[in-house]
Amino acid sequence: MKPFEKCPVCGGELEDKQVEKLLRGGGNTVSMKVAAEVCLHCGERLYAEDVVKSFEEIRSKLRKQEFSYLKTLGRSFTVEANWPNKAIQPTT
Ligand SMILES: [Zn+2]
Repeated sequence: MKPFEKCPVCGGELEDKQVEKLLRGGGNTVSMKVAAEVCLHCGERLYAEDVVKSFEEIRSKLRKQEFSYLKTLGRSFTVEANWPNKAIQPTT
């Protein structure tokens, strides 16, 4: 089911694509591939309503540090604020 026929931003043609999406919450990041409609003209990404709902679910899981259905893909770190070289600072 196509939620849109034309791009609601510029009226351009839409193409079904798999796009990379990053969601952040509670200091964690989840990356995934998502089916989206992408505007060939302006690059706007459109997601189906149930997909947007899933994004919200994932964000809320991250905020609650609840990781069912989520798979660890390595680990990302930042440095501690007390790292000896002050030229290097944590990202958050
Ligand atoms: Zn567009």
